[in-house]
Amino acid sequence: MADRIPIALEEKFRRRLAFYQDIGIDLFYRDRFPQQTASAAEEITLPKPVQKPQPLKPVSATAQPAPKLNVLPRSPDVSLFESMNKIAGDSLPKILADIGDCTRCKLHRGRNKLVFGDGNPNAQLVFVGEGPGRDEDAQGLPFVGRAGKLLNQMIEAMGLQRKDVYICNVVKCRPPENRAPEKDEVEICSPFLLRQLDAIAPKVIVCLGSVAAQTLLETNRGISHFRGQWLDFRGRKLMATYHPAYLLRNPSAKGEVWKDLQKVMAVLGLQGKKAAPAVSSQSSGKSS
Ligand code: URA
Repeated sequence: MADRIPIALEEKFRRRLAFYQDIGIDLFYRDRFPQQTASAAEEITLPKPVQKPQPLKPVSATAQPAPKLNVLPRSPDVSLFESMNKIAGDSLPKILADIGDCTRCKLHRGRNKLVFGDGNPNAQLVFVGEGPGRDEDAQGLPFVGRAGKLLNQMIEAMGLQRKDVYICNVVKCRPPENRAPEKDEVEICSPFLLRQLDAIAPKVIVCLGSVAAQTLLETNRGISHFRGQWLDFRGRKLMATYHPAYLLRNPSAKGEVWKDLQKVMAVLGLQGKKAAPAVSSQSSGKSS
């Protein structure tokens, strides 16, 4: 049996472990090399901590005390948005004009119509999706296909109409075969989304699906880790929930989305319809 390490060293060791636990690190692994010998016990090195994802840190709310907004740890990449300040006097028509007949990324090659956004330019609530599908590309409007119909039902279940809210996407042109937008496409297009959000200045942003949520929150975390929580987006309230297209394929997730939307309704002071047809209906299938 190995000799006991000196009491003082053990105590030092114990205090260091407690310190790591206090800062959220409680997983450790032992270095296999070099092999410890009894005589090396005096030089014992601390086990290497394994960094666990840090718990979400509450941000002290200033203007509105509730709900508390959490901040997700950002992925280590350079922030797209950090250096983007709000443009004084910016407006949706100006942003649309600046986008113009866009050829900034490769998505323009397959585009029929650019899909800028739709709805109330002064909306309290903005929904952000991923990118246009086939129907949207044909009509130049966001969420007009099957996923869009479900989104409309969700909006109505909240006690609103589509014209009351604003709907837009991370990328403005349809990715081929409805694939997810690629990193370069998101990087080129999302500053326009940011300008749209700044110009509208909604009370709440709802991200539909992981592309929207990960883009705005600049995180690689899977949406299931932070869905349904109030998150901070440049001082605004952001709620991430599942995409309606996901709900079409997984109707059993509708209840979770409805819970998320009820939190949004509470913040916006909405009563909603007496039932929630959008989340209880059993539509299924592939959306655009
Ligand atoms: N899916 C999206 O993310 N956006 C749309 O506009 C349509 C479907």
